[in-house]
Amino acid sequence: MGPRRIELAILPTPCHRLDLPELGSDLELWIKRDDLTGFAMGGNKARKLEYLMASVIDNGAEAVVTCGSSQSNFVRMLGAACSQLGIECHAAVMSLPYDSPAGKPSASGVGLGGNLILDELYGVRIHRFEDDDWEVLFDRAEQIAEVLEAGGKRVARIPIGGSTPLGIYGFYQAAAELTESFDWIVSASSSGSTQVGLTTAFLGTSTKVLGISCDPEPTLVRDFVELSERASSELGIPPLSLLDIRLNLDYVGPGYGVPSEAGNHALRWLAQRTGIILDPIYSAKAFAGLMDLVNKGEISGKVLFWHTGGTPTVFSDSALRL
Ligand SMILES: *Cc1c(COP(=O)(O)O)cnc(C)c1O
Repeated sequence: MGPRRIELAILPTPCHRLDLPELGSDLELWIKRDDLTGFAMGGNKARKLEYLMASVIDNGAEAVVTCGSSQSNFVRMLGAACSQLGIECHAAVMSLPYDSPAGKPSASGVGLGGNLILDELYGVRIHRFEDDDWEVLFDRAEQIAEVLEAGGKRVARIPIGGSTPLGIYGFYQAAAELTESFDWIVSASSSGSTQVGLTTAFLGTSTKVLGISCDPEPTLVRDFVELSERASSELGIPPLSLLDIRLNLDYVGPGYGVPSEAGNHALRWLAQRTGIILDPIYSAKAFAGLMDLVNKGEISGKVLFWHTGGTPTVFSDSALRL
């Protein structure tokens, strides 16, 4: 028996073919609609939260603390789950947290509106800080947790993007929704539990899972392996090695949290062809990568694009300016 879950999403999400002959006759393209998870405007985080929130409740937590960029989809969806369950939700946010060696991207992020409006609606207590290194953001979140504990609250700390063993488990289970088999599954990747969960589920099969990274850090794959090892020891699912993880870093563009020209082009293109909305920070970059790799002949056959959501970001004030 797996870990306990509560129901938040409407599952299974739809999965359907995309008729886009422009992408070539070698390709049979399908899309998994996790933009339609049916909870708090959709997105991949609903699957992780079904397990994470069950654990928060089982631990008797009265407050959760997480962190992210100010347009974080995870903060929005965690906030929605917490308000429903009567748990206080705190988030340490920076407009554009960045990776120290690479420095802060010179291009700007996606600004106000979007998820911030929903955060307010769900009653998320936003603690806003000046842009800085990710490690500084993690420290800020820890300080908030300690202050709450000093005030007598029982606190659950939820890492960035909900990438914990339970987050992985949500995607390990999601794979079972597919009724077709695919040569490739392509999705956006960042904190890793989406990709690690899916990769684990297809280990030893002919299906290749490819993450298109939305973070520039080349050390990400090692973090994913570590995460997978923890999930394996805590939940008994198979562990991944470095060679099991396909992560492509070529489509990040100007940096994490900043739209890319190719991504926004893909976003407009897919919207106008199909009505489907991608988000500029994750899924649009992943779809741009998919189109480019198909074009180069590196991906072909029966391909599933796993749409991870992010819809509210298109309503932020500068998201579509490129
Ligand atoms: C969080 C997120 C991702 C990345 O998923 P991870 O599990 O963090 O790698 C991709 N797309 C969207 C829209 C997201 O919100």
